Amino acid sequence: MSESSAARPKKPVAQLPSHSNFIRSAIESDLASGKYSARTWGGKPGAAKTHEGAPKDPAKIRTRFPPEPNGYLHIGHAKSICLNFGLALEYAGACHLRFDDTNPETEEQEYVDSIIAAVKWLGYNWENAGSAHLYYASDYFDFMYHAAECLIESGHAYVDSLSAEQMRALRGSLTEPGKESPYRSRSPEESLKLFHQMRDGKFKEGEHVLRAKIDMTSPNINLRDPAIYRIRKAAHHRTGDKWCVYPMYTYAHPIEDALENITHSLCTLEFEDQRPFYDWLLERVAQDGLIQRPPPQQIEFARLNLTYVVLSKRRLIQLVEEKRVDGWDDPRMPTLVGARRRGYTPEGFRLFAERIGVSKADSWIEYSVLEDCMREHLNDVAPRRMAVLDPVKLVIENYPEGREELCEVPNHPQKPDWGKRRVPFSRELWIEREDFAEQPPKGYFRLYPGNKVRLRYGYVVECTGYDGATNTVRCRYDPDTRSGTPGAEKVKVKGNIHWVSAKHACAAEVRLYDRLFKVPHPGAGDRAFQADLNTDSRAVVTAQLEPALGGAVAEERFQFERHGYFVADMRDSKPGAPVFNRAVTLRDSWGAGKTA
Ligand code: ATP
Ligand code: MG
Repeated sequence: MSESSAARPKKPVAQLPSHSNFIRSAIESDLASGKYSARTWGGKPGAAKTHEGAPKDPAKIRTRFPPEPNGYLHIGHAKSICLNFGLALEYAGACHLRFDDTNPETEEQEYVDSIIAAVKWLGYNWENAGSAHLYYASDYFDFMYHAAECLIESGHAYVDSLSAEQMRALRGSLTEPGKESPYRSRSPEESLKLFHQMRDGKFKEGEHVLRAKIDMTSPNINLRDPAIYRIRKAAHHRTGDKWCVYPMYTYAHPIEDALENITHSLCTLEFEDQRPFYDWLLERVAQDGLIQRPPPQQIEFARLNLTYVVLSKRRLIQLVEEKRVDGWDDPRMPTLVGARRRGYTPEGFRLFAERIGVSKADSWIEYSVLEDCMREHLNDVAPRRMAVLDPVKLVIENYPEGREELCEVPNHPQKPDWGKRRVPFSRELWIEREDFAEQPPKGYFRLYPGNKVRLRYGYVVECTGYDGATNTVRCRYDPDTRSGTPGAEKVKVKGNIHWVSAKHACAAEVRLYDRLFKVPHPGAGDRAFQADLNTDSRAVVTAQLEPALGGAVAEERFQFERHGYFVADMRDSKPGAPVFNRAVTLRDSWGAGKTA
């Protein structure tokens, strides 16, 4: 079993047993009623006329994952990715990857590339019925602009010329209704002319905005004539200088969904109050004949909050810029690039997403739930190896100098079909420092003078002493106790320790990672979240590894017996000289002395 786990052929995304939830119920009831079954699909996103007369939409449902390309994806995004792509797979639908790049200032190609890589790494793709559903919201700017003109013409939008402060003053509050702007009664002709001049660059930023005309007295502040287009004299990463007016997110998003034939637009709870505007807008645009009916529907779910990390791009950017970590892909970062380098697996994330499910109420998920999912998957796929992380020498006094033998060691205790490998054994071995005690504490049953232990897969040895000058533990072995030979079990011992032959060992850098923050809710109250960083989140050791590990290739994962799951670092490993990262310990040991 030396085959690399990274190089094994990719299995198709496994369908995990699915639990019913309010999103699945909504989809199933829409499928049963045929709500979206009359929709047609013209082969690409577009206005009603793109789809008119086209064949029935081959996708039973359409969902989308719509990141703003302004940072690296984090574990919270993984929940959304697994949800959206997972539902599409489950219901014979399609999930679109859409870059929500309507804000010209913050977006960069670097982020676009990293997002594409992260979604692929999680095991999903955006192909359906022969087409790739990878889209950019900025491709819809022409349509959005045209739809805004139609809203103006039909009396549903107007250009307001108040300053931002004046507008805020008229907006009212949760308890007071807002007041109408004096410009609200502008004629459609005048608004249209101003809107065109806005587009033509005739005004400064902030001089005018286009607002939807809804209801300044609505109890929902989002319906008090929200701004839908603003002037921004900024170059866009894809459209360059073509535009100096850009749509607001709340206006752009429903339109993007509609143009792409999305049926179920899943978003986090903070958008719940936006849903009435989402519906209002699409109804008006549909009335103008610009989009297909029925329009998509927005369904909200609780965002993932995970203890011991921060899941906000803004804060993650701070960690990188303030050099609190080594970069976006530092294995301690809750980014997907970080998690990947740490040795976390796509399968582990999918299991996590299914296990935490979706809910309508915000709550916190314990970080240990994610670690358990990673352990579960790694236990299943990681071959076992022996590694001594904190080495001390063990000399077997009665073992002949120069002699070597090979011990048969199973690659996975529960998977006999993974076979065995041969691990060299000799007179001088490395063992873990904590597996020897000159003065054993109570209940200690590993090596101490006079006590016997089994060297896993090898012999029973009895400790004869410790030589402080050479820092060497001494012992004698019983030649009749070799594992796997008749009578090997005649000597009963309590301790069973791992070892590596000193002559054959491969010395390697191993990084032991721990949680990035020392408290469950970093930055709670008024504290700066940086104050909660765990200053012990990384320890670097030189370990002694069994020889087979010397050939590990980047991203190959193993269980180091008794220690946990480790991955060959994808950035720093060199052929023949791997560097290992600890993904997760064997058991949840956080707060319990932190030993594996
Ligand atoms: P952040 O708050 O970190 O800046 P964001 O919501 O601004 O994230 P987007 O790029 O807009 O990031 O997010 C893309 C998608 O990922 C959205 O549909 C959003 O709902 C979802 N998402 C972001 N964070 C989480 C989270 N913590 N849990 C679940 N879904 C999330
Ligand atoms: Mg966002």
